[in-house]
Amino acid sequence: MGPDDGGHGGRIAIVGAGLAGCLLAVLLGRRGVEVTVYERRPDPRVAGAERGRSINLAISARGLAALEQVGLRDQSLKQALPMHGRMVHPRGGDPNFQPYSADGERHINSISRAELNRSLLETAEATPGVTLVFSRRVTGVDTKAGALLLEDADGRPSTEPADVILAGDGAYSAVRDSLRPDGETDFLEHGYKELTVPPRDGEFALDPDALHIWPRGTSMMIALPNLDRSFTCTLFWKKSDFAALDSPGKVTSYFAEHYPDVAGLIPDLVDDYQRNPVGSLVTVRCWPWVRYGDGAIVALLGDAAHAIVPFFGQGANCAFEDCIEIDRCLAETDGHWPRALSLYQERRKANTDAIAEMALDNFIEMRDRVSSPVYRAKQFATHALERRLAGRYVSRYELVSFSTIPYAEIPSRIRRQNRVLALAVVGAGTALGLGLRALIPRVRRHRRGR
Ligand SMILES: Cc1cc2nc3c(=O)[nH]c(=O)nc-3n(C[C@H](O)[C@H](O)[C@H](O)COP(=O)(O)OP(=O)(O)OC[C@H]3O[C@@H](n4cnc5c(N)ncnc54)[C@H](O)[C@@H]3O)c2cc1C
Repeated sequence: MGPDDGGHGGRIAIVGAGLAGCLLAVLLGRRGVEVTVYERRPDPRVAGAERGRSINLAISARGLAALEQVGLRDQSLKQALPMHGRMVHPRGGDPNFQPYSADGERHINSISRAELNRSLLETAEATPGVTLVFSRRVTGVDTKAGALLLEDADGRPSTEPADVILAGDGAYSAVRDSLRPDGETDFLEHGYKELTVPPRDGEFALDPDALHIWPRGTSMMIALPNLDRSFTCTLFWKKSDFAALDSPGKVTSYFAEHYPDVAGLIPDLVDDYQRNPVGSLVTVRCWPWVRYGDGAIVALLGDAAHAIVPFFGQGANCAFEDCIEIDRCLAETDGHWPRALSLYQERRKANTDAIAEMALDNFIEMRDRVSSPVYRAKQFATHALERRLAGRYVSRYELVSFSTIPYAEIPSRIRRQNRVLALAVVGAGTALGLGLRALIPRVRRHRRGR
C-alpha cells in the first residue's frame, strides 16, 4: 500500500495508552473513527501509576492548545501549579529568581503525569468508538498480513488484524524495533533519579511558583512542585556518578556538600536515593515514520518517533502536537489514511528535529549557564528588548514554551532577530561615532576660544 492508494479506514489500532496514544484515540473517536488502543500495562486507574517515569511534567502552550481541542485544558490547569520562572540555587550563594517571560506573567505548568494520563484515559473511554485494551503488550507488527502481534500478561501470544497501526508506544517502541527504520537512539551519558521533598509543617518547603534548579556545571538537580505540597526533585547526573555514592554515608555527605540548602528538606534522602531507579535519557532519530505494507500502514508518533531529552520540558507537548497534526491531515485528506500519514510525517519531522537539538542545548544552559552573572545580565537585556520591541524580538524560551509557532522556524527566527539587533547596535555605534567626530572640532574651537 502506498500514499496514493485507496484507504479510508478499516481496522484502526493505537499502540500505547500513554499521553499521545490516549489523546489520539479521543481525536479519532470524535472524528467518527473506530479505534482500539492496546496498552502493555494494567489499567493505571486500577493498578496505580507505574514507577520509574517522571512524576510530574511541565506542560506549556503547545500541550495546552492540544488539550483545549478535546476540552481538557481547563480541567488540566486546575490540577496544575503555575511556575513563573526558574529559581536558581547557585553553589554557595543565595537563590535567585529568573522570570520566564518579559512581563513576568507567563508561566509553565507543573502537572502530575499520572493525573494527566488518567484524565486522558477517562476521556478516551467515554468517547464513542474508542476501545481500551489493557495488559496487552505489542511485540511486533506484520505489515504484509495486516496484523498486530501481541502478548497478554501471562506471555500468551495472539494476533489482531489491523489496517492502520498508530504506534505511540514510547521511546523504546517495540513497533519501531519491528519496522527497523533508518536512524539511531542516542543515550546521554547522564541518567536521572527522582527524590521527594515532602511538605514542611503542611506547607511547601520551597517556593512553589518556580522550577528550581541547582546548576552544578556538568550535572544538575531540578525540582517541580506537586499539588500535595511536595516537590519532586530530579537529579541529572552522569550514570557513573550515581553508582559512586554506594553507601548511606557517601549519599548524605555528598548532598550536604553540593546541595546544602535542600539536603535537610529530604528526610528519606538515603532511602529514596537507594530505592529509586536511574532512568536513561535518549534522543531517537529515525526515518521514515510511516511504513506502507501490503496489508497495513504503520505510523510512529510521540516518543516512539522522536524521543527527546527533557531539558526544554517539551517531549509531551511535542507528542500532543503530533496527534493534532494527524487529526488535521485526516481532515485535509478527507480521511484518506495513506495520504494523511504521509503529510503528517513530512510536516512534523523538521519540527521534531529542531526541538531535539534545542532540548540538548538547553541542558547546558540549565546545568551551567544559568548561574553565571553574564547569563543573568543577558537575560535581563533580552527581557528589556522584548518589552521594547514587543512581538518583534521574542526570546527562544518564549517561542518554544509560550507560542505554537512550528519548532523548525525558531532557530532561524532567533538568528534573524540577532542579526537585526547586531546591525542596530553597529548602527547606533556608528551614529554615536559620527556624532562624536562632529562634536570634537567644535569642542576644540570652544577650548581655543577660552
Ligand atoms: C525525566 C523526564 C522528565 C520529563 N519531563 C517532561 C516535561 O516536563 N514536559 C514534557 O512535555 N515532557 C517531559 N518528558 C517527556 C515526556 O514524558 C514524553 O515525551 C511523553 O511521555 C511522550 O508521550 P508518548 O505517549 O509518546 O509516550 P509515553 O508517555 O512513554 O507512553 C507510551 C505508552 O505506551 C505503552 N507501551 C510501551 N510499550 C508498549 C508495547 N510494546 N505494547 C503496548 N503498550 C506499550 C506504555 O506503557 C505507555 O503507556 C519527560 C521525560 C522524562 C524521562
